[in-house]
Amino acid sequence: MPIRLRLVLLAGIAILAMAIATWLGISRLNETRHNVEREVLHNKWAHDCSSLIHYLQRERGASASFIASSLKDFDTVKKMRSDSSAALEALFNNPLATEHRLARLGMADLRVKLMEVRNDVEHQSTDWRRLRDAYTTPINTLLGAVSYEMLHEVDTFSPKLDMIAELALAREALGLLRATVNSVRTQASRNTSDLIFIAGELTLYRHHIDVVRSHFAESDIHSLRSAIDTPDHAWVMEAINRVLSKYDMVAALPDGEQWWERSTKVIDSLKTLEDQLFDQLARETMEKGRAQKNVMLWVSAGMFAMLLVLVSFVTMTITVMMRDLRELSTALDQIVEKENYAIRLKDRGGRDEWSHAFQHFNRLLEFTDRLIREKETLASMDTLTGVMNRRAFLKYAQREITRANRYGHNLSLIFLDIDHFKRINDTCGHATGDEVLKMFVDTVKTRSRDTDLISRWGGEEFIIMTPDTGIDGAQSFAESVRQCVAAAEFPGIGHVTCSFGVTQWKRGETFEAFCSRADVALYEAKQSGRNRVCVG
Ligand code: GH3
Ligand code: MG
Ligand code: MG
Repeated sequence: MPIRLRLVLLAGIAILAMAIATWLGISRLNETRHNVEREVLHNKWAHDCSSLIHYLQRERGASASFIASSLKDFDTVKKMRSDSSAALEALFNNPLATEHRLARLGMADLRVKLMEVRNDVEHQSTDWRRLRDAYTTPINTLLGAVSYEMLHEVDTFSPKLDMIAELALAREALGLLRATVNSVRTQASRNTSDLIFIAGELTLYRHHIDVVRSHFAESDIHSLRSAIDTPDHAWVMEAINRVLSKYDMVAALPDGEQWWERSTKVIDSLKTLEDQLFDQLARETMEKGRAQKNVMLWVSAGMFAMLLVLVSFVTMTITVMMRDLRELSTALDQIVEKENYAIRLKDRGGRDEWSHAFQHFNRLLEFTDRLIREKETLASMDTLTGVMNRRAFLKYAQREITRANRYGHNLSLIFLDIDHFKRINDTCGHATGDEVLKMFVDTVKTRSRDTDLISRWGGEEFIIMTPDTGIDGAQSFAESVRQCVAAAEFPGIGHVTCSFGVTQWKRGETFEAFCSRADVALYEAKQSGRNRVCVG
């Protein structure tokens, strides 16, 4: 698989990971929001139960009093009934009031039960104790529902729910006391079981209030005190105690209306306290939800930012690597296809592996380039004298001919041959002959121009091509070389002479024809006594 594809795949995986992490973050956020909504709904359910308990208690008190004839006015009962019916509907309209839930909590037949009890009241077909107990059953069911919420439905249990349940139980005990004491008032004689009931409920009431008091936080004790450390509460407690301690004494019974009014005030203040706790609970839940949401938001944002950095880093790395790889690939193409070793990769001066590889690749290119140039130089040079060999000369001479042909420039050719060179070899040795050849070339070079092409044609014979030079110029150049060589002192030999054949290029002629004329001129120079310049 090409590296480019692998890197793209890597970037794809990183982006996918980013998408999954973001999706997880969002779903976790949704879950948190859902949990908070659920908790709010359950708090409301408990609140609705608590309200219904309150209104049923009032209805129970009024109805029991009506049956016991301590309350003559049925309108009060009717008013209580409409309040509790409204509370019942509110509870049944709560989204959590599903059939399954109502059945599980034993509340499915609440409406029917209530209707039956109310019928009994209207037909006066029950006594006040049975009626009280008939109301107490659904109230206990509702109290159970509140506790159930507290224990099973709300994930994060708040101590406030515990307090609410205890307050509801205290309120219920007081509600039963309100109804019982009110009904007892109208009886001609005291019934022991009523008094035991009152004593039991009073104990329960005190117990629940004590639990609330011992568990309330410092800040909440104040609101509890404002509900129970009141003259009404003291009066109610005293009235109950009087009933218990002075039974059979009609004088001990409190005034009916006053009893109802003041005990209701106490119950209402407990209800207010309960409502305050519900409000606090709702606020706590919302705040908790907000805090969780914030944490999730920050975590998600952090994760997203980290992944963004990761993806950017991967993308940047891929881009840089691909750029370097492309450059390397292009360079390799040039080398392989065009044999161009002169190119160099851009050294970015970095300290990474790519820069290191590039620097070494460039050094390798330099080394190869040098080797090739050396090889080319060696292939075109005469190793003894350092001038061009015949092969290189032919290449450059052809170029000069083409140029002269195109622009009509002058071009001349000179053949030089050392005179009686064989004698030098024979008398002084081959090595001395070599030294003579080298010195001869150095001498020729002192008289020539940079543009002149000097080459060893073979043995002790040389050729010089002079661009932009006519026959006169070439002849005088040859003459000056001749004089210079003749004047030079060759170590161990003395003087050496040289013969020259000079000719000018004729437009359109071949190199062979051009050479042949110079060769003939040289031959003529040799024949006519050597150490001279002949023009062909
Ligand atoms: P001429 O004046 O007619 O040119 O006579 P010459 O002796 O110079 O010419 P000839 O062709 O008879 O001899 C050339 C000699 O040059 C023969 C050969 O041994 C010698 N020679 C050719 N190449 C080299 C070389 O590289 N080094 C040395 N030392 N001698 C060489
Ligand atoms: Mg010779
Ligand atoms: Mg010769």
